Amino acid sequence: MSRARGEGCSCGRAAPARSCCLCGPAVLLALWALLAAGCSRSSGSGEPAPSNPPAISAVNPLAGEPGTPVAIAGRDFETRPQRNLVFFGTVQAPVREATAERLVVEVPAGVRADAQVQLSVTTRGGTAEGPLFTAHAPAGAPEITEIRTEAGERTIVAFPGQRLVLAGSGFAAVPEQNEVTIGLVPVNVLAATAGALTVELPAAAESGAVAVRAAGVPSVATAGEPPTLFVAGGAASSFDRGGVGKAGAELLGAWPRTHLLVEIDVQQDGSSADWSPSAEALAKLGTRLGERLFKPGGITILQPSTFAASDRSWTEDEVRATAFAQRNLHSRGNTAVLHLLVLAGEFAPNEAVIGLTFASTHIALFEERLRDASSPLTLETAEAATLVHEAGHVLGLVNLTAGMCVPHEDPDSRGHDIERDCVMHREISVRRVPLGGGPTDAFDPNCRCDLAQAGGRP
Ligand SMILES: [Zn+2]
Ligand SMILES: [Zn+2]
Repeated sequence: MSRARGEGCSCGRAAPARSCCLCGPAVLLALWALLAAGCSRSSGSGEPAPSNPPAISAVNPLAGEPGTPVAIAGRDFETRPQRNLVFFGTVQAPVREATAERLVVEVPAGVRADAQVQLSVTTRGGTAEGPLFTAHAPAGAPEITEIRTEAGERTIVAFPGQRLVLAGSGFAAVPEQNEVTIGLVPVNVLAATAGALTVELPAAAESGAVAVRAAGVPSVATAGEPPTLFVAGGAASSFDRGGVGKAGAELLGAWPRTHLLVEIDVQQDGSSADWSPSAEALAKLGTRLGERLFKPGGITILQPSTFAASDRSWTEDEVRATAFAQRNLHSRGNTAVLHLLVLAGEFAPNEAVIGLTFASTHIALFEERLRDASSPLTLETAEAATLVHEAGHVLGLVNLTAGMCVPHEDPDSRGHDIERDCVMHREISVRRVPLGGGPTDAFDPNCRCDLAQAGGRP
């Protein structure tokens, strides 16, 4: 099948004003993975997964303090309580009772107080977003304002077994009188003062909002979003290194991955150049993901970190090996991690390549090539378009793992949209555009339909 290698790229020298996004080899992997996965999808319990997404018809009450029981009426809920992932904003709530038509949950500790938060229910069938809920703070409520490492640095990412310090106010000075939870998982408190709790993450820790009941009084968040800890894995799983698009459904939907992290590792090639993509482009990637993905626990793009490497020309195997070596955070439990490798130099098989998707949660950006090909006026939009394009492949576009609502795959370029005005077109125009335009970073209606059908936001 050597003919297929690189077939996704048809630009090259004939079209010098465009850079190409090559997906040929990766698409081959994706198709293999799709075939392998086709007959193995199961709920893992013998209990059939619901075929319909849930729907919420009524919530009562619509306001209350943490601990208040809340009844959610609707349909297509899971009958096992823990199979319903209920969130008040970014804070997961314990589910006490469950039938297909009714859930009873508790307003969770740690919820944002005196602000309207989105209530949502996720089952294996999908996600329903209900009405807005207003949580109230109990008298004397403690509050966690910051998560720190033992060395005192602010953090939002940790591994199971790690010790952390939760800073805030109103804690009980006796460790045993503070019940700390991260998401729904209880956490052991090692030391306590009124303003700091030292905790140790258990092996079962998962990403979630950090909350405490101090002497029985539940915490709330009064200063913006509740602090959320993302708990990542230290080792790669098949979810992270599968074929392109294979992670798409779990990235798009909230079951079972309610949280998404993006780790960025940038080559430091010995020159004075900082090859980090612009903050604007990374923010745009976050916006586009937020528009398409159900991630009630949150989507966080981490600050880029750097690694030293003098290479100026990268084969696909070298890209893959470098990404695997540099990546620190892996998908685990309720958390998906997408890895972005940013490289200087060029992609050896095709110097026109500016972006590459080569595994289920791995994308690469050839930032130096992108800067060479772009004008300063269009660089940020070209970066954003490239990142969103590669993320689109990770999500299963076009016609990889996400089916097509209507046919729109480019017959000459597997995985790409035939529509030039879509970010999933095989080429991204980086030519300076009059009136300050630039390439689109948006999924067009056909791609949006595909992503929604595959489990993403409508
Ligand atoms: Zn592509
Ligand atoms: Zn499209």
